[in-house]
Amino acid sequence: MNAPVAQAVRLIIFGRQGAGKGTQATRLAERYGVPHISTGDMLRAAVASGSSLGLQVKEIMDSGGLVSDDVMEGVVADRLAQADAAAGFLLDGYPRTPGQAEFLQRILAPEGVRLAIDLDVPEDVVVERITARRVCRSCGTNYSADRDESARTGVCAKCGGEVVQRDDDREDAVRKRLALYTDQTAPLLAWFAERGLLATVDGVGDPDEIAQKLAGVIDERLG
Ligand code: AMP
Repeated sequence: MNAPVAQAVRLIIFGRQGAGKGTQATRLAERYGVPHISTGDMLRAAVASGSSLGLQVKEIMDSGGLVSDDVMEGVVADRLAQADAAAGFLLDGYPRTPGQAEFLQRILAPEGVRLAIDLDVPEDVVVERITARRVCRSCGTNYSADRDESARTGVCAKCGGEVVQRDDDREDAVRKRLALYTDQTAPLLAWFAERGLLATVDGVGDPDEIAQKLAGVIDERLG
């Protein structure tokens, strides 16, 4: 059921990799009846389809760099102009730079974004979660080294395939990615905080309770 709201539900969600942002974003989008718009997903789809945008961004994405603000402006403006975003949206992965944040507020003027949420899970906690992740090479099933027998035996319970740790889930690689995230995101969190638009929600704990906390913060803001 959608929550009753008077104004457009324009939300942004920030969160480190492994913070549970995907799960919570899906739930929030459902609760408020708005699309979950992930710029990373959109760009990956463009690359997979071989569109001109995909060809333009593939190399940058492969190298872990940021697509230029100019290109992202086109992508985001087109997406937010679609009918399903008229009553609001939950943006994920955008903005990534203060320039993008300014662009967003400009195209959404005069109201702008209603709230940016930082789903906060400390770095050490997400490092533990991600480094415990194991995956079957054959069928892609995920296992946890803390909980699952298949992670200990190295044999997938579903298909008998080999269960391994992905190279980019090793601690040094994870810490590198997280440091990049912090460097990129800290100025943005400050940007929204300075404008009274930031809410930090503790993302450690039971997913149902976290979902409730998020809804509480958003409902309060939407009034
Ligand atoms: P994500 O899934 O959000 O981590 O995005 C995957 C990749 O897409 C990033 O590493 C960037 O190369 C690109 N990307 C996604 N969103 C943006 C953005 N707002 N600005 C620039 N590049 C982006």
